[in-house]
Amino acid sequence: MAEVFFTPADVDVVEPEKWYQPEKSLVFRLERLIDESGILDNISSGDVVAVKTHFGDVGTTKTVRSLFIRKIVEKIKERTDRIFVTETTGLGMTRKRNTAIGRIEIAEENGYTSQTVGAPIIVADGILGFDSVKVVQNVKHLKEVYVARGIAESDFVLAVTHFKLHMRGGIGGSLKNIGVGCVTKTTKYDIHLSSTPQIERERCTECMKCVEICMFNAIEDFRIIEERCMRCLGCYEVCEVQAINIGKWLSGEDIAERIAESAKAVIETVGKDNFAYLNFAIDITPHCDCHPYSGISQVSDIGIFASNDIVSIDKACFDAYLRENISPRALVKERIWEWTKPERLLSYSEELGIGERRYNAKEVT
Ligand code: SF4
Ligand code: SF4
Repeated sequence: MAEVFFTPADVDVVEPEKWYQPEKSLVFRLERLIDESGILDNISSGDVVAVKTHFGDVGTTKTVRSLFIRKIVEKIKERTDRIFVTETTGLGMTRKRNTAIGRIEIAEENGYTSQTVGAPIIVADGILGFDSVKVVQNVKHLKEVYVARGIAESDFVLAVTHFKLHMRGGIGGSLKNIGVGCVTKTTKYDIHLSSTPQIERERCTECMKCVEICMFNAIEDFRIIEERCMRCLGCYEVCEVQAINIGKWLSGEDIAERIAESAKAVIETVGKDNFAYLNFAIDITPHCDCHPYSGISQVSDIGIFASNDIVSIDKACFDAYLRENISPRALVKERIWEWTKPERLLSYSEELGIGERRYNAKEVT
């Protein structure tokens, strides 16, 4: 059974006249949580460590605060000085978040710079989001997964995750941070969609915009050549007459299983013993941080979780979330988006052997 360590967000001030009590800070307790959980014990001197977080989009306001990441980087520096804070580009080619340049600009807008976090910020999948290591696996959906090269080349990955709801995966925890956040656009596409883009000739005005944006010369005579298409979504975004058909966006068990399969490929590339996870169950918003806004929290802040087991940590967070009273102003009164299947994300991840749902919870005060 895996161990999940937890420090509550509550600040228990019993002597209010003693106003200066820095040990009450969650930043201070994060340090204790890292020490007592031993989640970084497998980092050796000289290891390259990727701290994978989510910088949000333009306008996202409730990502993991940079001062927590700074503390985490300080703790890793006790073991190695080769650390970077990282994220991948988003699916698509036309928005700011779709390139490393835009991703870093967004990070800076949202308070993440090398000065604030204490380590360089490097986008893991290259300037345009195709730099990857291809993993072939024998699973139900994703036979090929494109792991971001910056992740694949790291010796150790620490996922620093804002735990929240997710409109497709159900919960946005470590599984989502690794399964969706550590792969390139091609696999992000394969997680969200099951068919390659096709041009509907009867709608096409032959404007050439899709041909111009395609980096892979995959469009010839207004037809998409499947073998060349890297599923970046660029052509779909620029077509003004909706002539590019991408099929239906996936949801429910299908997308839950795909996220789990992608996470398996990432974990097996770096090695299961070379991962640690920190879930911040704080500001549990109804949407993922890829939305350009953040709603109010579904429940009161819960705390920070730490584990070396990706399934246990998400299960522990989800269990804690389900125990809380839903805020009267919560957007998702039913607790999860009704079409999502977070339980399947957890159970299938366990079936794939990347972690287990049974855990032993230990509180760090
Ligand atoms: S962008 Fe749309 S309309 Fe223009 S050539 Fe491509 S498919 Fe046709
Ligand atoms: S054809 Fe494929 S690779 Fe080319 S722009 Fe469209 S989705 Fe991207």
